[in-house]
Amino acid sequence: MDGTGAPPIPSAAVLIRDGLIVYAGPEAHLPPTSPPDSTIDARGGTILPGLVEAHFHPTYFNVAALEDLDIKYPVEYVTLLASVNCRLALECGYTSARSGGSLFNIDVWLKKAIEEELIPGPRLAASGREICGVGGLMDWNPDFRRIGMEGLVLLVNGADEARAAVRRLVKDGVEWVKTYPTGDAAAPNLNDHHSLSMTFDEMNAVVATAHNHKLKVTGHCRATQGIKNALRAGYDTIEHATFMDGEALELLLERNTPVVPALQFEKASIELGPAFGMPQSVIDGHKETLEGGAESARRILRAGGRVGMGGDYGFAWTPHGTYAKELTFFVREVGFTPLETIRCATHTGAAILGREHELGTIESGKLADVVIVDGDILADISLLEDRNRILAVLQGGILKAGLLTK
Ligand SMILES: [Zn+2]
Repeated sequence: MDGTGAPPIPSAAVLIRDGLIVYAGPEAHLPPTSPPDSTIDARGGTILPGLVEAHFHPTYFNVAALEDLDIKYPVEYVTLLASVNCRLALECGYTSARSGGSLFNIDVWLKKAIEEELIPGPRLAASGREICGVGGLMDWNPDFRRIGMEGLVLLVNGADEARAAVRRLVKDGVEWVKTYPTGDAAAPNLNDHHSLSMTFDEMNAVVATAHNHKLKVTGHCRATQGIKNALRAGYDTIEHATFMDGEALELLLERNTPVVPALQFEKASIELGPAFGMPQSVIDGHKETLEGGAESARRILRAGGRVGMGGDYGFAWTPHGTYAKELTFFVREVGFTPLETIRCATHTGAAILGREHELGTIESGKLADVVIVDGDILADISLLEDRNRILAVLQGGILKAGLLTK
């Protein structure tokens, strides 16, 4: 399954040389060549491109309460946890990931450690601390507690402060600027999913400053007006795009902006939230969000828009290692076909990273990021959830994880 959306090729072979794919197609048509140094038998299973987790939070350590994110542990321990999460993502078949926001400035250094092969992990596009308006969704600690939220968010009032926040992230060395244009079901009183957490002016200032320094911008967008603001401001991707009206869809399609819905998070919140003490008002909001988000994702894909697969994993009800539940959810409950879902999770993910010329499909000339699954994932996409079915995870042609490494 090459990730382009084309039907799978039976009895296929992939030839890899010096970390690159040099042939992918029917085994019978393998070009005549000197025998390879080593061979992996896919055992009649599925060969597919390495998956891309397009909304990854390596630094979120399976927190049961949002408030724990930046006050439970010091940066030293969060960094160690984050490196374990990166290894786990690779073991799950995710050879690349785009961060959706980082505690402290950990992502940038994780990326360096992965690239220098000190720790295993996905090829990482690093984010930094997230930007939100004062009093908005992420500004949850009351002032009397004197907690500055330094590790989690940069809180801004007005365009000047928004510019200043991006400039700090430029110095930090991030590639993606994550913002909070809207609220969320998690904050039903003051910052619910139909409210805004940033002004259009602030968002515009973020984009102009980020783009000037060649950084990309994304944002948590649930409310319809927040989605439109982000598109008009020139955001490079939209997270969630939950409540879309016709105008929002038109703006999105005109710009061909990719969307990462992250819907399994909503489902898990509804199902498992009560066990974690989530109030009913929050669960009700997640139900509305799940319905709206699923409908929007369907409309975007059917209208020819781009959808990436990423799930905001790293909460107690959506722990790291369960990333592929997102794909199962899209097949079983949103109505994407398995082929469409895999294309979203590979080809579109690589496009979000800005690396579609070198990643995301199994085609000659691309980096050999390849996953081999024991079984037919077209027949049962949920096989990807089971690490005991993942035979091999290759990154740049090197066997990095999977049963064959054991
Ligand atoms: Zn997120």
